[in-house]
Amino acid sequence: MSFSLESFSLKGKTALVTGARTGIGQAISVGLAAAGAHLLLLGHRDNLDETKAKIDQLGGTHETILLDLSEVSSIREKLVPVLEKYDIDILVNNAGVIHREPAMEFSESEWLRVMDVNINSVFILSQEIGKTMVQRGSGKIINIASLLSFQGGMFVPAYTASKHAVAGLTKALANEWAGNGVQVNAIAPGYIETNNTEAIRQDEHRNQAILDRIPADRWGEADDLAGTAVFLASKAADYVNGHVLVVDGGWMGR
Ligand code: NAP
Repeated sequence: MSFSLESFSLKGKTALVTGARTGIGQAISVGLAAAGAHLLLLGHRDNLDETKAKIDQLGGTHETILLDLSEVSSIREKLVPVLEKYDIDILVNNAGVIHREPAMEFSESEWLRVMDVNINSVFILSQEIGKTMVQRGSGKIINIASLLSFQGGMFVPAYTASKHAVAGLTKALANEWAGNGVQVNAIAPGYIETNNTEAIRQDEHRNQAILDRIPADRWGEADDLAGTAVFLASKAADYVNGHVLVVDGGWMGR
């Protein structure tokens, strides 16, 4: 195969992105649409207008699906029947929640909610959509991991455990499905300006300490993740399997 820029095109592909309303999920949705994909935007509540408007501006196409991913059983009961009419080529497991509390006080209900959204739903969605990809002999799954897939963090034990699990699951699924033409990879964003990091950006001391460690000398923007997602979703990444690609302005190398 000779290489051409067409290898990055997503024309004719259908992509499902979870958590598409805001932040990284929005930026990745718009990026995939810019590369030509038809977007299935999975939202929690019916307010994805901003994401839809950005895709419309590009002349892209989209549909919306609403589901609360913390109700993991509803993925098989409600979502899978809706998805039957689509051939999903690209699945981006982006939706995620964070709960900050010292481990000694961390409530069981918060532990379970974080695990349900950040890892349990990722497994069930990947399993259900991965089956159809394996049957068709092609597909890309991109999981959104974190620097806390490698490090421990402070006061976010459930988040850290869930994101370590996301990295592990990425490799486990990649090993099983690479031979069937399905690539499973992850993106580990660094510190990105989104709702997820609002609280630590408001804390002047934490904000400065974080900035001091980022060689790029700035927080990341959600758009910094879009190109990486397009690459991993494209034919250009057909031989990339089980990789957790860090996009962090250099944080991990410091
Ligand atoms: P965000 O703006 O808070 O986005 C989180 C998204 O997940 C929202 O669209 C949210 O929908 C959705 N979501 C939350 N609970 C859900 C549920 N029960 N069912 C369905 N959707 C749900 O923050 P973000 O930074 O873009 O986060 C996106 C991903 O990046 C997460 O997995 C996060 O862990 C990861 N990440 C972020 C950073 C960072 O620095 N920002 C770093 C590493 C990894 P609603 O808004 O409608 O609730």
